[in-house]
Formats: sequence, C-alpha cells, structure tokens
Amino acid sequence: MDGLRACVHCGICLPQCPTYRVLGEEMDSPRGRVYLMRAAAEDRIGLTETMARHLDLCLGCRACETACPSGVPFGQLLEATRGQLERHGVVAPQRDANLLRFLLAVFPHPGRLGPMLHGLRLYQRSGLQGLVRRLGLLAPFRRLRAMEALLPPLPTVPALPPERVEARGARKRGRVGVLLGCAQRFFYPDVNHDTVRLLAAAGYDVVVPRDQGCCGALHLHAGRIDEFRAMARRLMPAFRDVDLVVVNAAGCGSAMKEYAHWLPDEAARLFAERVRDISEVLMDSELPLRPLRETVTYHEPCHLVHGQRVRAEPRELLRRVPGLTLVDLPDAELCCGSAGIYNLLEPEMAGELGRQKAARIRETGARIVTAGNPGCLMQIRQHCRAQGLSVEVVHPVTLLARALEER
Ligand code: SF4
Ligand code: SF4
Repeated sequence: MDGLRACVHCGICLPQCPTYRVLGEEMDSPRGRVYLMRAAAEDRIGLTETMARHLDLCLGCRACETACPSGVPFGQLLEATRGQLERHGVVAPQRDANLLRFLLAVFPHPGRLGPMLHGLRLYQRSGLQGLVRRLGLLAPFRRLRAMEALLPPLPTVPALPPERVEARGARKRGRVGVLLGCAQRFFYPDVNHDTVRLLAAAGYDVVVPRDQGCCGALHLHAGRIDEFRAMARRLMPAFRDVDLVVVNAAGCGSAMKEYAHWLPDEAARLFAERVRDISEVLMDSELPLRPLRETVTYHEPCHLVHGQRVRAEPRELLRRVPGLTLVDLPDAELCCGSAGIYNLLEPEMAGELGRQKAARIRETGARIVTAGNPGCLMQIRQHCRAQGLSVEVVHPVTLLARALEER
C-alpha cells in the first residue's frame, strides 16, 4: 500500500509509457493504473473486468519506474494486483485466457517446449511455412498469425553447452553458473554457448547445471505468484555451489534479482545477491578481442534497463570491440512490444510498438541490432523483416564471441 500512496500524480512518467504514447488514455498510463490499483486496494472500487483490461494492456516494461521521482515500485505493484485479479478470477473479455494458460503450461517447461518446437522445425524445413505465409492462410487467426510470424529460424540441434568448462588463462576469477533460460536454450542456443565461452575466456570456471528448471518470470508477470514461488524454490538449489549466477536473458535476470522480495527468507536473499547479467560480469574482464568492422546499434531490453538498471555495461562492452562503430538508437529505452508473452496475447499493441522500433532502427543505418533478451530479438527481427529492413538482430554476447581471439 505504501508503494501505491507514493504516487503524487505528477505525470512525469506519462511520456515514457509506451501504451500511453499509443493510446493517449489516462487509464492506460502509469498514473492511471496506479490510481486504479490504489482505489481497489482501498475498496473504493471492486476488481472489475475494466480494471483488468487496463492492467492487461500494460507491458510491465517498468519505464515508469525509471522515470518516477517518487520511487513508485510499479512492477511489484502490478504483479501483486494481477495476482489479486487472478485469485478472484477476474478476466477481461478481450483476454484469451486459454492461450495464456497454454503458454504458461508450455514455455517454462523444456520437456514440453522442446517436442513442440521439433514439430515447428519440421514445419519450417518442409517448406510448409513459406507456403502458409505466401497464401496468407493464417490471416483470419490474429493470435496464431502473431505467434507464427515471431518464430525465428529454429536451429537444427539445440544442444546444451558443456556441463563444466574450466577457466582459460592465468587469472582465475571464481566459479559461475549459467542459466539456460527456457526460450534462450531453444530459440538462441548459440547465445548460451557463447556465454560459456566468454566467461571461460574471462577467467571463470563455468558450470551449466543440468537440473535447473525455469526461473518463473512468465508466471510472476502474469500474477501467478504461488507458481512463481514454487519455480524459484526449485531453481535455487541448482546453483548452490557457485559464486555468481549468470543470466543472458533480461526478463529472467530481472525476476531472479527480485526473489528476495517475493520469497522473504535468507536463502532467497543470498541467491538474489549472486544473480548478474552477463554484461555486468564481463565488465571487469580483459577479453582479447580482434577487430569487427561493423556498424551496430543497441536496443535496451526493458527488464535490463528498467528492471535491473543495467544500462552502460552492454554498450561499454560493445565499444571495446576494435573497429566496431556503435550508433545511438533513438528511443532505445522504449519497449519493442515483446514483453515476455505480451506480443502473443496483445498482438495489436505489440505490433504497433514493433513497427515503431523497426522505424527507429532504420534511421540509424546500422547493419546489426543488438539486444540482450531473446524475446526482444524475436520481436525486433520480425518487425525489421516485415518492413523490408535487412539487418542482423543478435545478442551482444554473439558479437563479443565473434570478436573473441582464442589463445
Ligand atoms: S510498465 Fe510500461 S506499459 Fe506499464 S504503465 Fe509502466 S511504462 Fe506504461
Ligand atoms: S511519475 Fe511516479 S509519482 Fe508521478 S504520476 Fe508517475 S507514478 Fe505517480
């Protein structure tokens, strides 16, 4: 409740809010949403479908949190209120509750996501995907079409990185564990391989625990707090023997750094203190990098810049690559519309934000776009492709690994 009362209605957050910029509606702004959440918390209004709709449209990007001079913890308030709506069974009619249930039942479970993607890999390789797209067969099914359009080319064998890799070089920095991530391990397995390679080159002994599960981020953002807590409790023991837990997916890292808030006990606090984004860990390393003559721009994943306040590190690392020219992306901090599974649930708003992001990327003239989150990579790639923009969309780790000189 204190967090809700902290809002002084100044409106400084409004221009930073993607949904307010698109819709221009007070109730689709941070100030309006805080007003609704506070009114419900004080029993001045009930938990209604209208309120649920305004909260469904929120991306949870937390740009408002960065902008807010009063320190309103918007992300935590949003997740807690979504949890209340969930417990009371309040669902806006526009929300596809079955799709949400399906996504939450599949995505955080590698044992389910893997076989499903195997079928989709056949769909891509057989030429069926090209035919479906040419004939526009999914046009009447807007959410299915949104899902299909997002699919990046699926790698042949999404093999896991080795379970243990020893540090290279004379200087040993410690022992780190790498989170595989549910989306990362299947859609961008090369990012996990490159993460391990870079960490070993930076002087870390690396372990990739095989018994790790999902961090629970999707459930947290959907307000499924009990399931999120259960997933967090299952994940933490897998990393008990490492100095740091390294994450290369911004959404996962942000949720894991908040374990102490949602699981108020000593084990969660000690775990959360050890969680780092890969860019934070590599900052004090001296990686041997050869020149890459590329023009690159950088998109700020919301859960990195706003959720974790990691802003300078990815850019600084890219600037260390000799020959690489880093150009500023206008509105780099504005959400691309991915927001976990938001782009599957709210394809219209996500599509508008994706189009705006691709237009800004075009203005930079860069040949490569980087972002440290698999959801952003998929969303940006899809919208650049749809606008006929020929850019490579990769994780910053991919470029660093490309430049890494093996010694
Ligand atoms: S989290 Fe993002 S979309 Fe939601 S109110 Fe804040 S700025 Fe707007
Ligand atoms: S910036 Fe903070 S205090 Fe001002 S309206 Fe937005 S949430 Fe409220």
